[in-house]
Amino acid sequence: MSGPPMTSVRPDRGTVDVVIVGGGPAGSMAAIDLARRGVRPVVVDRKRFPRDKPCGGGIRYGVFRRFPELAEHLRKTVEIHEIRRVLIEAPGGDSVRADRDTPFYLTLRRLELDAALLERARDLGACVVEGQRIVGVTVAADAVILPTADGSEIRARVVIGADGVNGIVARAAGLTAGFGDDALALDTMEETPLDELRVIDCDTMYVAYGYRGWPGYGYVVPKTRHVDAGVGFLLSFYKRALGGAPYAHHQAFLGEAAAKGVIEGRSRPENFKAYRLPLSGPLARTYGDRVMVAGDAGGFVNAYTGEGIYYAMVTGQLAAETAAEAIGSGDCSAFSLARYQVRWEREIGEELRDSLRIQQRLFANPALADRIIRAAGVDARLCRLFAAIALGEEPLRPHKAELAWRFALASLRLAARRLVRSRSARRSARTPA
Ligand SMILES: Cc1cc2nc3c(=O)[nH]c(=O)nc-3n(C[C@H](O)[C@H](O)[C@H](O)COP(=O)(O)OP(=O)(O)OC[C@H]3O[C@@H](n4cnc5c(N)ncnc54)[C@H](O)[C@@H]3O)c2cc1C
Repeated sequence: MSGPPMTSVRPDRGTVDVVIVGGGPAGSMAAIDLARRGVRPVVVDRKRFPRDKPCGGGIRYGVFRRFPELAEHLRKTVEIHEIRRVLIEAPGGDSVRADRDTPFYLTLRRLELDAALLERARDLGACVVEGQRIVGVTVAADAVILPTADGSEIRARVVIGADGVNGIVARAAGLTAGFGDDALALDTMEETPLDELRVIDCDTMYVAYGYRGWPGYGYVVPKTRHVDAGVGFLLSFYKRALGGAPYAHHQAFLGEAAAKGVIEGRSRPENFKAYRLPLSGPLARTYGDRVMVAGDAGGFVNAYTGEGIYYAMVTGQLAAETAAEAIGSGDCSAFSLARYQVRWEREIGEELRDSLRIQQRLFANPALADRIIRAAGVDARLCRLFAAIALGEEPLRPHKAELAWRFALASLRLAARRLVRSRSARRSARTPA
């Protein structure tokens, strides 16, 4: 797919209703929603599509329930692999396999997904400007002024910052001073064809949670024709305690995965990338006068799984809904755009707060992760529930009580087994040969 001729948006064309900075999942979804509501947005991305984004390329199956109107388009344009089994490994090395009939997860290539979403936005009437970088954001009384790298300028009534983890919109609007080391993870990935780096069981996704007892994880995600694998750590831990080249850690993880029989073949350094990921929850405030931020730009990432595509799409859509109302009412003030925060709080706020609490507890206490995995090993329902919650297929809150009693019961069973084993070991030690 080749990009269309670049559209130049210049000040003499007047003020456009909505400019979306960034054409990733957040920006494209915002554009799709606005176009459907009859507001023609302008999407500006510094890259030309199809462009790649460092990512594992896993997305919850529930994306089709949340965006049913996109399911057919995506199934037609993107190669999607369905994952029904997940192998979860604890820091101490114990592991459990969860499976179920309906998929837990979908895997795909970001190169294809992002191009397909942006194409959809364009088909619905969005004006897409590729290969153009926004270099500043000034909020004035009557418009937002966005200078571009080629020296022109775009004026908009509302701006949606969907410009990713290194974005400029949130900073320019005073919503953040930028993500610090404590709020970030350093994640690696490699997307390599399956005939070069083979996954032994292509239906199973492998997650090493709290890998080596460190605050991070490793993953092997099989796709239709590729494998995506990598390892990630909290950036503050990486800088303080780990150091070294990210590829060395990536290679070490792949070596261990090969030794465990998860993969076979060779890592291809030319397919390797390391990138930042916000991992400490959404910004306290995600809107201002004439501005909203969505996706990674607003910190919308699950803090213990690193899942961000789904939240980018949800927040892009909710920002678009709010922008359309503001344009319709003629009130684009922070007061009016505050509805955006109410909307995402209602839909994903609790889930994202829970994810941060889980991350903090498990990363601080690898032994707890070990106990959870061992308990899941003796209770199949507990195991499936953990996997379904972690992969976004089930909400946590309604299952909290069941998780707690199943965990307690499974821990008791394990303790009883240990007692029986140690008694019989003592008995056989006393028995003369
Ligand atoms: C190694 C790694 C693995 C991951 N694995 C997963 C996974 O398996 N599943 C999952 O759900 N999430 C995963 N994530 C997170 C996921 O990649 C992000 O959450 C997701 O890409 C966020 O989408 P977005 O649209 O907000 O931002 P992005 O996808 O980053 O898009 C931002 C866009 O803005 C453009 N842009 C930036 N600045 C400007 C500018 N000044 N002017 C114009 N354009 C600009 C960029 O070119 C880019 O196209 C992973 C992240 C990493 C780093």
